Amino acid sequence: MIAKNGSDKISKIVFYDELDPNAFKSGIIVFEGKYYSKLDKILQDFDGIVIADIHTHPIGCSTQQSDSDRNHPMCRLKGHIAFIAPNYASNLLLMPKDCSAYLYEGSFQWKTLVNESFPLNITLL
Ligand SMILES: [Zn+2]
Repeated sequence: MIAKNGSDKISKIVFYDELDPNAFKSGIIVFEGKYYSKLDKILQDFDGIVIADIHTHPIGCSTQQSDSDRNHPMCRLKGHIAFIAPNYASNLLLMPKDCSAYLYEGSFQWKTLVNESFPLNITLL
């Protein structure tokens, strides 16, 4: 989820497999570092920054961060927000409160964002 530099409004979304065609082949997200150059190009052309990401967890599973989620942030910038959607995001209507949200604080430390943390200063355009 990308915002224009200086904005907190999400105005562009790039899917992992747009960047790394093999990202989903193993059943979990495996993103090869070499594909960050594609993201860099998109960010430069758009004058944007990545401010959040989202991934899903399987049907019936918790949306709590796994050890892998905590130890492999998609973006290692303080203030980055990671959303986890339930049930492969397959619900017809998925509300933000159905997801878990985590704020990256650096050094692989995360703060769980609870209902009182919302609304976040993120707007989908
Ligand atoms: Zn996860």
